[in-house]
Amino acid sequence: MNLTLARIPEWIALRDAARKVREKAWAPYSKYHVGAAVLTDSGEIFTGCNVENASYGLTICAERVAVCSAVAHGYRDFRAICISLTGVPVPCGACRQFLMEFSPQLPVILDNLDSAGANDPEVVLLSELLPRAFRLDHGSL
Ligand code: ZN
Repeated sequence: MNLTLARIPEWIALRDAARKVREKAWAPYSKYHVGAAVLTDSGEIFTGCNVENASYGLTICAERVAVCSAVAHGYRDFRAICISLTGVPVPCGACRQFLMEFSPQLPVILDNLDSAGANDPEVVLLSELLPRAFRLDHGSL
């Protein structure tokens, strides 16, 4: 098992939550159904699925839905995020920047449902996906 994954004992619950919410995706245009689940520092899990729109530009990704839900419930510190889909589950550029706002060293669990390794998913750090990220100092809130 990946060493980073071994440090996230809740990863299976996180993966299962991402897979379950993926079933709720609204993706009539791309047929690209994505589920995401974010784990807070205190162990809560918030989920999101992608929601497409006929005006394409209004489409929102699963990762951002999950993070927005967590923030709306008062959580801003995250220990991991899992992204589930059939294909290569790396977050898009917008989501990388969005996730960077809260947890630059966030482990990103890539749950590729097509992969034989779906039960031992690849984990990458957000800082690897978005090196030299744009950041502003928001002080201590
Ligand atoms: Zn995205």
